Amino acid sequence: MSDILLVNTPIARTRPIADPDESVPPIGIGYIYTQLSRSGYQCQFVDANVGSMLPQDIVRLINEADAEYVGLNVFSSNLTIIRHIVESAEPRKKFLLGGPAVRFLVPEIKQWNPSGTITVVVGESELILPDILGGRVPLESVSPNVDVAVVSPDSRYYPSTINLPLDRAIFVNEPIRRRDLGVVESHIIASRGCQYDCAFCTAARSLGPETRARFRSYDSLAEEIEAIKARYPDTNCIRVLDDLYLRNANSIELAAKLFRQYGLRWRSMAHINTFHELPARWLGSIRDSGCRELFVGVESGNDETLKHIRKPFLAATAYSTVCRLIDAGIAVKCYFILGFPGETESAASDTIRLAHSLRDHAAIVGIPLRISAFRFRPYHGTSLYEELRSKGVAMTPIVSRADTTDDPDCNPYDCVSGVYAQYGEEILNSYMAEMERLAAPP
Ligand code: SF4
Repeated sequence: MSDILLVNTPIARTRPIADPDESVPPIGIGYIYTQLSRSGYQCQFVDANVGSMLPQDIVRLINEADAEYVGLNVFSSNLTIIRHIVESAEPRKKFLLGGPAVRFLVPEIKQWNPSGTITVVVGESELILPDILGGRVPLESVSPNVDVAVVSPDSRYYPSTINLPLDRAIFVNEPIRRRDLGVVESHIIASRGCQYDCAFCTAARSLGPETRARFRSYDSLAEEIEAIKARYPDTNCIRVLDDLYLRNANSIELAAKLFRQYGLRWRSMAHINTFHELPARWLGSIRDSGCRELFVGVESGNDETLKHIRKPFLAATAYSTVCRLIDAGIAVKCYFILGFPGETESAASDTIRLAHSLRDHAAIVGIPLRISAFRFRPYHGTSLYEELRSKGVAMTPIVSRADTTDDPDCNPYDCVSGVYAQYGEEILNSYMAEMERLAAPP
């Protein structure tokens, strides 16, 4: 008998393809599970992505579950799937919907007709959920079957400190054996919120005080790494999933110290602005501390586009910074986006050229550089979404590309919407094909 069924929901309606590089444990749900368990609630957890579950499998699971509550994470990209689930489940369950972008989805969710009731939990939800299950939180009704609970920064449930406990017992895909990198990898989140303001991102600073950046302490991270080593003795690499871990020289020094202390290799997201003027000795310190790869969001090779999407650097800076990392012996994975609203063919060509130049430089130096490219999709609430809306542009729902193609190699986490650039779908597809060629191992 459980009180709540927590589901890490799928992005694709068709059977997802397991890709260990893309499918990471749902750390956010882990924090929720930990707080609910510590408050005495019995939680059942199912990871639909790792289990390759289809939406109808989840409906069946919910129908058979004895839990009164069902917690689902919802995104712009699986909104129609979650709607199908909550409207198809037969018993009158109490659905709890959450996720980083759910505050922008309330206008759509309140139109739904769930079999039971829905409470949308807006904001970081791990500290409020035990009291919601206990009936101690006043809810705002937004439609006959939909209520909202908001965790704003002035709420007593807001995690001002993010040094929170994490019980990893529910993670079924950790550690991940990365045979291509020769590592066994576990995952941590070292910060929440963001200090940057990218126009395509729901974590952007200007979207409200909820996205205020907060950082975990060195001791909290060390404690988590000790727990990982105790639970998964095979783990020899840590992947840091948040964008702000390496935000300045001080954070780099602490990262190098942390991973040296535990003799672990590591990979992390990183920002161009952290590195472009960083003295070379710091780059050497990152490499020597066991850093196996940095993930960098370059997004575009065109300065006008970078300005439009509020990336705070020029294409030349992105090029020189990634080259500095490569020259220092640090492998890099660069992320690009094609098809931004109003993007011209010339701007998209600049992006392809930049990706080529970076690949060429890395090949000469002999350090791995990986390329990953996505089609632009308008996430609810972001500046670019609002820009398109204000211009009256009809936006197509975001869906997994796996649901739109027979390609068996299609990554289900690669989502598509309409084409909002100045060029059409055929040209966008040709650019994406070119980026996929660059993404293929040399
Ligand atoms: S894309 Fe990354 S750097 Fe930009 S706002 Fe989002 S989290 Fe911050």
